[in-house]
Amino acid sequence: KAPANAPQMKPWIAAIHAYVPGKSKGADGKALVKLSANENPLGTSAQALAARAAVSTSAAYPDPDSTELRAAIGKLHSVDPARIVCGTGSDELLNLAAQAFAGPGDEVVFSRYSFAVYDIAARRCGAEPVVAPDKDYAADVDALLAHVNEKTRVLFLANPNNPTGTFLPRAELARLHEGLPPDVLLVIDRAYGEYVDPAHDDGALELAAQTNNVLVTHTFSKIYGLAGERIGWGTGAPHIVDALNRIRGPFNVTTSGQAAALAALRDQQFVIASREHNAATRADFVTALEALGNHGLRVVPSEANFVLVLFEGELTAEAAQDAIAKAGYAVRHLPGQGLPQALRITIGTGAQMQAIASALRDVAGDAG
Ligand code: PMP
Repeated sequence: KAPANAPQMKPWIAAIHAYVPGKSKGADGKALVKLSANENPLGTSAQALAARAAVSTSAAYPDPDSTELRAAIGKLHSVDPARIVCGTGSDELLNLAAQAFAGPGDEVVFSRYSFAVYDIAARRCGAEPVVAPDKDYAADVDALLAHVNEKTRVLFLANPNNPTGTFLPRAELARLHEGLPPDVLLVIDRAYGEYVDPAHDDGALELAAQTNNVLVTHTFSKIYGLAGERIGWGTGAPHIVDALNRIRGPFNVTTSGQAAALAALRDQQFVIASREHNAATRADFVTALEALGNHGLRVVPSEANFVLVLFEGELTAEAAQDAIAKAGYAVRHLPGQGLPQALRITIGTGAQMQAIASALRDVAGDAG
């Protein structure tokens, strides 16, 4: 608490709970293998690492407009580069979207059990976060639309969703968009979009290209394995991109980040290999958990690079997390997000997932 004669933070800032990243140390202080931040277990494209290493100076400011990178993104995704804006991670773009389109007296809608940054993004510009109920851990289009009113300015939807992994198919996403008033900005956060089987594309980029009220965000932090470089991008109608460009950091993507992302984009083999590795390893992990039998474990269906495991029997999420930590792995427990009964587990390598399944088998047996 600030002394009475000191600067006072605005009341809406005081209401924010700072984002708490997952732990990567066990109770004994030992480092754990991190399966708690949805990073790519295959690392980063070798070509991206080489491009980053080839950046030979840091004395000059980066290209303020990420020109080459936007051109390459546009080419890959058939999007006009003029309709693309890059950010310091997609986090920056989510915050800018709320800031540009919502303020005090306005409402920002999102689903229960969605990305923690939406609440912060709404509050930091003085808007009111409004949480719509989920449908068995997935976004519920009817519930979201029922929470939209004349004060609503922005609606955030992650597809696939974090922390549940659930995915809204194309028809449902279209129904959500059709049900929204045209002056509400629909932000479709596709941080995990590249993990979805391309045959099940949700149509988000088409909505961004064809409508006036959709912003789609992507990141280089997940499948591209560049979380340490902090690069995201968004696309939408020109007036939406213009709004974000007015308020973003002028040099918001580093030179090394632009170089690495450009090379990573050109190495789609790495992306495909990562997607296929994830799908196969996730399927094996789910099968292994289902084989544990009737211990009250339930896996929420996931299209992402993690699964949410519910502990609805004798075995608690805390006990399961302890057992997994003893085996050497950090996974995410999110009681602060209303999920005391669940763990979010990033899909790592096959061997890592077998070790976790085996730790859960042992502790579930002990719990009866
Ligand atoms: N959206 C979702 C749903 C996420 O899970 C994350 C990362 N945890 C982000 C956006 C932000 O990622 P970044 O800022 O690294 O692009």
